[in-house]
Amino acid sequence: MIIAIDGPAGAGKSTVAKTIAKKLGFLYIDTGAMYRALTLKAIEEGVSSGDTARLIALAANTQIILRNNPDGSLVVFLDGRDVSRLIREPRITQVVSDIARIREVREVMLALQRDLGRKQDAVLDGRDIGTVVFPDADKKFYIDAQFKERVSRRYKELVALGQEVTFEEVDADLKNRDTIDSTRAVAPLKKADDAICVDTTDMTIEEVVATVLKEIKLSGRV
Ligand code: C5P
Repeated sequence: MIIAIDGPAGAGKSTVAKTIAKKLGFLYIDTGAMYRALTLKAIEEGVSSGDTARLIALAANTQIILRNNPDGSLVVFLDGRDVSRLIREPRITQVVSDIARIREVREVMLALQRDLGRKQDAVLDGRDIGTVVFPDADKKFYIDAQFKERVSRRYKELVALGQEVTFEEVDADLKNRDTIDSTRAVAPLKKADDAICVDTTDMTIEEVVATVLKEIKLSGRV
């Protein structure tokens, strides 16, 4: 069974996806983490986000592995190295959307994501899961929230991670990524026609999880 969870940054997608996966015993696949890991490698190797040819070659020669810990947390390995924390740094967030807009880079990630999802029951979160990666997913959700609320959540999350960011910087980052992610030519962020939309602006994470779980259980498959 495949559960697709899409939506913009800060809407609560990954927390919900992670919690649902743990509750159901499914694999959790954070597709954003894959784009982030590749972005880290590009930065470390001095490849600029405008150097499409080198980025395509890099994507084809990079090993990205996601591991789910028993407590539900995610570990991301880039060529065998644990980069789980590094990929959340602002230097990654600033350029990841520019790298994720490249068609051939997306093709590599798509193959990886489909491969993982076909092996076992999985919850995938991202921007194009219900529209492109698994258009025939068993259940699709589009998790959204009002812009200011998303900025506020992301800001608190980053501060909790010990990062020195201002509210204005987070506001600018989300605006920038929203624009690039939803206007790019390949696999833009958008709600799949058959996705269930959840506006989480006034909901607690527990309420969102309960809403999503209820919908999944209605399918009678879990
Ligand atoms: O989910 P997260 O915010 O960590 O994703 C980081 C970036 O990766 C997004 O802003 C987007 O540019 C890209 N991404 C994507 N397609 C996905 C998941 C993430 O383009 N399925």
